[in-house]
Amino acid sequence: MIYITIDGPAGSGKSSVSRELAKKLGFKHLDTGALYRAATFLWIKSRKELASQEFLKMVKSANFYLSGDSTLYMNGKPLGEEIRTVKVGKVVSKVAEVPEIREIITQKAREIANGKRIVVEGRDIGTVVLPSACVKIFLTASVDERAHRRYEDYKSRGVSVRFEEVVKEIELRDKIDSTREVAPLKPAKDAIIFSTDGFTFEEVVSKLYSLIVEKMKQC
Ligand code: C5P
Repeated sequence: MIYITIDGPAGSGKSSVSRELAKKLGFKHLDTGALYRAATFLWIKSRKELASQEFLKMVKSANFYLSGDSTLYMNGKPLGEEIRTVKVGKVVSKVAEVPEIREIITQKAREIANGKRIVVEGRDIGTVVLPSACVKIFLTASVDERAHRRYEDYKSRGVSVRFEEVVKEIELRDKIDSTREVAPLKPAKDAIIFSTDGFTFEEVVSKLYSLIVEKMKQC
């Protein structure tokens, strides 16, 4: 097994970069944000109290599975647009703040990654979920660049949202994610910190790919 972790704030381009790097390396790819989003989707649908035993049981019993092409399934169905709505985006950090939920999702992420050659992305992968990972990257970018990226992403999916609303979503999530008590967003001590400001997607992928290949020789 070989673990590569990519952490970073909302809109840093983690997902597309991680997916492309996994493809180039011939590795699997797991987006742990999707696990938290799926839990949030379940919460909104269930109308249960957050952190209630009923809701925690529901998340615990959810069956997550990564297919051959790294599509993430929950309870037999591929996760899609339903977890990427503005509504889910607005409350996911609240759900991810609950320690019991973090414990369940952390366990599920470890189970999915176990024994694989895999790129795992999130906020606390290098620090908490897979601290023994071979290569750790912390991807970052300015709020403006990240908000533009998220805004274009919403637009391309036909989601109607104002740019100012996206800036607010990003700032709020940064605040909640980096100040929460359990597993806050921060680079691991042994992470490579990489700012994507001013680089194209292709440049970021190519630079990180070289870094990873070099670092993997020491694993
Ligand atoms: O990556 P994405 O922006 O889709 O993640 C959604 C939210 O899930 C984040 O804002 C964060 O609150 C939470 N998350 C987390 N830990 C992770 C991955 C995501 O707390 N490892």
